[in-house]
Amino acid sequence: MEFTYKEYEKLIGVLKKSGYTICGYENYLLYEKPVILRHDVDMSIEKAFEMALIEYGMGVKSTYYVLISSDFYNVYSKYNIERLRKMQLMGHTIGLHFDEERWEDNVLKAIEKEVDILEKMLEKEVVSVSMHRPSDITLKSNYEIKAGRVINSYSKTFFEEFKYVSDSRRNWREDIFKIIESGQYNRLHILTHPMWYAQNEKGAKETLSEFCKNKVYECYDILDANIRDLSQILQKEELER
Ligand SMILES: [Zn+2]
Repeated sequence: MEFTYKEYEKLIGVLKKSGYTICGYENYLLYEKPVILRHDVDMSIEKAFEMALIEYGMGVKSTYYVLISSDFYNVYSKYNIERLRKMQLMGHTIGLHFDEERWEDNVLKAIEKEVDILEKMLEKEVVSVSMHRPSDITLKSNYEIKAGRVINSYSKTFFEEFKYVSDSRRNWREDIFKIIESGQYNRLHILTHPMWYAQNEKGAKETLSEFCKNKVYECYDILDANIRDLSQILQKEELER
């Protein structure tokens, strides 16, 4: 599959044609052939927002998991909070993407702490959590978060009772279209990373290289907003691309 918005739209179309109902972690039991669409926002809320708009255009609601301790983006910046609020207005769910590397011990306590923080930032309840590069212990732990009030998308249910497929490292280990069309699976759990998708097909190297280069300009714009007469010291054109 190509990593383009057009191809992603095709994927949604094939899911619908194959009788799947796109739903959330909290209501999948209502459907005979549920599919949960999940997006882990590892590097860019801007890219997540783009994908959210594509889905909105197709009447699709999904779940976006954001990190609150990322070095790539600030969830609470004015623009990002606005984007996340708009995504919620589109009908999407914003959940917590939890990075256990951030913490020393007691993972469950740390998850619950981050849930509290994200809820305050979003001014809305967090319904579910996904793990960012979980350890084997976390994968096996089947954590019950906030006494079960918050869904753990890594709980056994969503891995053992669903066919799970992911585009991690920009690579579908299995042919996603074949899986959908095979008729073999009654429940699907699909993880995609918005970072890899764009209008036109790009390889992993090109995508990451563009991401890094754009950061340089983004950094300049932030400097510009914080340092008076920045151009007298450094001009944008002087930055190497
Ligand atoms: Zn992740």
